[in-house]
Amino acid sequence: MKKISVVVPCYNEQEALPIFYTETTKELNKIENVTWEFVLVDDGSRDATLEVMQKLAEKDEKVKYISFSRNFGKESAMFAGLENSTGDYVVLMDADMQDPPSLLGRMVHEIETNDYDCVGTRRVTRKGEPPVRSFFARAFYKLMSKISKTEIVDGARDFRMMTRQMVDAVVSMCEYNRFSKGILSWVGFKTLWLEYENIERVAGNTKWNFWGLLLYSIDGIVAFSTAPLVLSSFLGIIICIVAFCMMAYFVIKTLLFGDPVSGFPTLISVILMLGGLQLLCIGILGQYLSKTYLETKNRPIYITRKTNIEK
Ligand code: UDP
Ligand code: MG
Repeated sequence: MKKISVVVPCYNEQEALPIFYTETTKELNKIENVTWEFVLVDDGSRDATLEVMQKLAEKDEKVKYISFSRNFGKESAMFAGLENSTGDYVVLMDADMQDPPSLLGRMVHEIETNDYDCVGTRRVTRKGEPPVRSFFARAFYKLMSKISKTEIVDGARDFRMMTRQMVDAVVSMCEYNRFSKGILSWVGFKTLWLEYENIERVAGNTKWNFWGLLLYSIDGIVAFSTAPLVLSSFLGIIICIVAFCMMAYFVIKTLLFGDPVSGFPTLISVILMLGGLQLLCIGILGQYLSKTYLETKNRPIYITRKTNIEK
């Protein structure tokens, strides 16, 4: 008998969570020879999500919950869920029914019969998403595939089932700046990708806005690529070469033709451009430095306020 842990990060999901619980339990019942547990993580919700979890836990002893002391973000919630899961197979799912539980049976089957360590999902359409967001998302994946050695699969969702061995590997990466799309790929293992159409959430609202996604993508780049640093060094070298040529040109010109005071537009353009580039490069450096700073503080990834898990 294998045990499946269903890890669910929840932030303000009071409407969606009961629906999720019922539907997922229905699907899990269909799978033969498995038991399961739910590890529900309340990421500092401001609505009644915790009460919903506690009610579910009273009714069903398979329901475990962890409630954070504040909102730590989905990455922290997923980490807490993985760390506290005990199953042989662990599946990460959103509470909003965008991850169809009907795929669970197939996932277990693939791991057991075809020797996969991980079955991930990717959506092939971005239906129901603002076009601007889709455009930037695509651009991000393209850029990432060029500048990072870690492969980040386009459209990959966090919805995936992993074996205990892989989960232990993921949990052993205790970095503070977590970018799970990168981490899950970095640990390796044999992964099968299932494709499905985008599904809209059943209740509540998405927690992502454009700005949030942009900052998240910068986190991803900084965490899994050092290309921006290389780029800024290259810019420096190129500008030095250009400056050297210009110096030679102006020295020779002055020697031959004298030095009438002119060329203010050139001068101001060069000063502004160099100033801008310097700020850009310092900014890039600052991004990495700030991440290093946070990492060295060694803060916990999450703080628990309430839970029914006994250690
Ligand atoms: N979530 C979370 N903490 C947050 C934001 C989101 O635990 O700070 C959870 C949320 O409850 C949901 C999942 O992460 O179960 C995905 O969030 P959402 O549906 O808003 O993202 P989208 O599907 O739109 O990418
Ligand atoms: Mg969602």
